[in-house]
Amino acid sequence: MDKIFDLILIGRGLSNLLFISQYLKTHQNLKILILEKNKKIDERFISTWQGPGLINLKNEYNIFPIQSFNEISVSEKNNKIKRKIGPYQYQTYQYSEIIKSLLKLIEARGIKIIYSGVNKIIENNRYVSVSTDKGLYKAKYVFNSSPYNEKNQQKPEHMLYQYFIGTIIKNNKNHNIKECQLMNFIHSNKEILFNYVIPLSNNSLLVETTAFGKSKNFSDLDKLHQISLKQYKPVESLFFEKGIIPMSISKKLTKTKRVIPTGIRGGFARPSSGYLLLRAATWAKDSKNMNLNQIGFKEKTIIHLLDKVFLKACYFYPELAPKIFMKLFNARHIQSVIRFLADTPSYNDLIHLIKNTPKKIMIYALFK
Ligand SMILES: Cc1cc2nc3c(=O)[nH]c(=O)nc-3n(C[C@H](O)[C@H](O)[C@H](O)COP(=O)(O)OP(=O)(O)OC[C@H]3O[C@@H](n4cnc5c(N)ncnc54)[C@H](O)[C@@H]3O)c2cc1C
Repeated sequence: MDKIFDLILIGRGLSNLLFISQYLKTHQNLKILILEKNKKIDERFISTWQGPGLINLKNEYNIFPIQSFNEISVSEKNNKIKRKIGPYQYQTYQYSEIIKSLLKLIEARGIKIIYSGVNKIIENNRYVSVSTDKGLYKAKYVFNSSPYNEKNQQKPEHMLYQYFIGTIIKNNKNHNIKECQLMNFIHSNKEILFNYVIPLSNNSLLVETTAFGKSKNFSDLDKLHQISLKQYKPVESLFFEKGIIPMSISKKLTKTKRVIPTGIRGGFARPSSGYLLLRAATWAKDSKNMNLNQIGFKEKTIIHLLDKVFLKACYFYPELAPKIFMKLFNARHIQSVIRFLADTPSYNDLIHLIKNTPKKIMIYALFK
């Protein structure tokens, strides 16, 4: 008889590895298999908030940032808002380093990875069959983080794409940028456009040109990106990245009895920002004492509701987005804004947040 695994993880990416590294702490004897289509680990730079009340990525997962910022800024034309964010930090991690570190832990527990892309999943009442070019595997449960095929799905209402092009550039002298520049807005009536600048060392920067748009136009974005890079007078480009993160408030793909969508596929990415790392890490920790059939992902209702309003405002009034974000980051208590962005706002934080958004625009967006 075929061997049936307790769990098959499709994808050796962020969400599945964060999950399994926690789950093994409480479930040592499970038969687990990981199926991954690419042996080579992609590179990308992933940022998140850290600080009191947030899951501590160093303690829980033994992963370390390459940069940590106590100050952030947002700007539009000549107006720049710079904020000290202590006791919080904004931290940047190297994706490949996170994956390698989690893999070490998992491989030490004898978990096997087969490098082969999954092309079909069939679920029946007792198990799930997963087929790849290298064979057919069966499991009681499957966590699937492979991207969903947009062509087979109905496009959700009010969906935006966060699409971006990033380059790490080296300057020949110090750039003197100390803070993480979250959003340097570029004027546009069609979509929300901004540069996101992370100083990685005294003379290198990750410059990302990002759009929140109803469709993706990488060739126009690249033109803007090249113009943006010029202002930093780069002497060398060290690395290039490109990505698309769906921003939608509709549930992506819901779980079935035995197949649980995880990561971007499971709707983990925050609808209004595309951020995923903190959510995936918190979900993984919260799931560690559950049985596999109980695990799923659910957003907090109030955050979901506010994200819906933010997303609709961005969808219907992209030209007003700089005003919304500038006002938000100018809030008296920036820590309230950070707790909201990091999924842990108190009721006082939410009241403060609502006070610091342009109410007229948000109300129009809500009823659109
Ligand atoms: C360039 C870039 C920058 C980002 N920056 C941030 C950030 O700053 N902060 C943040 O919170 N989020 C960020 N994100 C979003 C998100 O955090 C990452 O994309 C994250 O890696 C998503 O986790 P995941 O588990 O869904 O997928 P992944 O980590 O991408 O893992 C999915 C895995 O599944 C494998 N796979 C796919 N199809 C198959 C198949 N058919 N069979 C087998 N294996 C398969 C893939 O090869 C991959 O290894 C960024 C994304 C990109 C692309």
